[in-house]
Amino acid sequence: MATHLPKEKKPTEGRKHQNMQNDTKTSQGQWGRAWEVDWFSLASILFLLMFAPLIVYYFIMSCAQYQCSLADPLLDLLTGNKHLSDIWNSTPTLTYRAAVIYALWVTFQVVLYLFIPDFCHKFLPGYVGGVQEGAVTPAGVVNKYEINGLQAWIITHVLWFANAYCFHFFSPTIIFDNWIPLLWCANILGYAVSTFAMIKGYFFPTNAKDCKFTGNFFYDYMMGIEFNPRIGKWFDFKLFFNGRPGIVAWTLINISFAAKQQELYGQVTNSMILVNVLQGIYVLDFFWNEAWYLKTIDICHDHFGWYLGWGDCVWLPYLYTLQGLYLVYHPVQLHTAHAVGILMLGLLGYYIFRMTNHQKDLFRRTSGNCRIWGKKPEYIECSYTSVDGSKYYSKLMTSGFWGWARHFNYTGDLMGSLAYCLACGFKHVLPYFYIVYMAILLTHRCLRDEHRCSSKYGKDWKRYTAAVPYRLLPGIF
Ligand code: NDP
Repeated sequence: MATHLPKEKKPTEGRKHQNMQNDTKTSQGQWGRAWEVDWFSLASILFLLMFAPLIVYYFIMSCAQYQCSLADPLLDLLTGNKHLSDIWNSTPTLTYRAAVIYALWVTFQVVLYLFIPDFCHKFLPGYVGGVQEGAVTPAGVVNKYEINGLQAWIITHVLWFANAYCFHFFSPTIIFDNWIPLLWCANILGYAVSTFAMIKGYFFPTNAKDCKFTGNFFYDYMMGIEFNPRIGKWFDFKLFFNGRPGIVAWTLINISFAAKQQELYGQVTNSMILVNVLQGIYVLDFFWNEAWYLKTIDICHDHFGWYLGWGDCVWLPYLYTLQGLYLVYHPVQLHTAHAVGILMLGLLGYYIFRMTNHQKDLFRRTSGNCRIWGKKPEYIECSYTSVDGSKYYSKLMTSGFWGWARHFNYTGDLMGSLAYCLACGFKHVLPYFYIVYMAILLTHRCLRDEHRCSSKYGKDWKRYTAAVPYRLLPGIF
């Protein structure tokens, strides 16, 4: 469901408006993902298309067959101790049971998403749910979304606990016990939805003006053609696949890993509890702030392709949960001081992450008529044009955490990510993959976002970067 948003437009900009209409492509080039592919982007995309599925397989296989050692499989192969076929043949295949579990899981999440309107906002003070508007798209469209992720998360978890612990309908270790067969199912869905999104972009896009074609098949497949593909009024691909089934599953996966520890060792270690609690806070925060999420880069700027489709189905649930998986194989019991230090780091990271995001959200929602750290916020006025040549105005805040660095929310996110990894001790590098990945992802995202903002706001962006010169760490980067 979409509406156009003329109200933010300032009619006084009529002359400029007309000029822009004569140069649609220039206007579009100022906003959203690339129109043309450079060699570096193409090489990166081909690398990811080829190797990302292998990376996921390698990590999961290393845990299942090599006790989470990343070096041992390579050593075995290099020394001729094992052949690729030996490793492959020891890998569990797709099973009927996993296919049924996965199909039921995804169907259930679709039902929760599409057919149960949000009721949480009616009784949870401060929670924003129900029908909400997204940001204006490059074509000047404002989509409407049914925000009911928190409700879906709660219903799913209540049913999980009831069925696993009260009715014993399935074991709480069910996810761990089917982990690799489920990986094949997640891949099938990830590829199917990305391929469908590409075909849809060509033949029946939801909004043709919000499509981008570079002419390069691989780039379009990876980065997506359609901005907001939908089926019917409400099934929004980005919101559904970004949030559910992957993020709802995240906490269940961790709970299943904790249950496996209990089954194998008769206890759940404090490190496993830390990972469950810190990642649980992150997941709950995501759903509590799902309406805010409509204004983040994933929804506001990324097109829907393999990067989001496959990434949300496979990469996120399998690699973001590596710490819990590792702790099943290596049950680490931390000294209390160590555990408390990690908890503090994780909570501080979360606080910075949330407060920084909150400050921007409050600032944008109130158009600067708010208080940040007890004072009226300072900001830089800026303007940009949409695909139809309309001129819009916006503000970039230079107060609060946004005055410390241009992406201090990423810094908080990185602190939290480091805490999850540290909970796993220092025996293996595998659990540290997450912090390395997040550092690359968020630095790249920071540069990508700044490139986009620079094209979108032009000289106004330069004034902003002069006022706030650092990206992630004040005085350093
Ligand atoms: P931001 O929430 O930082 O949004 C960036 C956008 O905010 C810019 O494009 C610009 O958009 C606007 N903006 C930039 N500077 C200012 C300012 N000074 N004042 C007001 N608005 C400004 O980025 P993301 O959407 O990437 O991230 C949201 C959160 O999600 C972050 O905390 C991040 O850590 C987290 N995240 C987590 C991931 C994970 O996998 N765990 C992955 C990605 C993100 P506009 O065009 O509207 O001006």
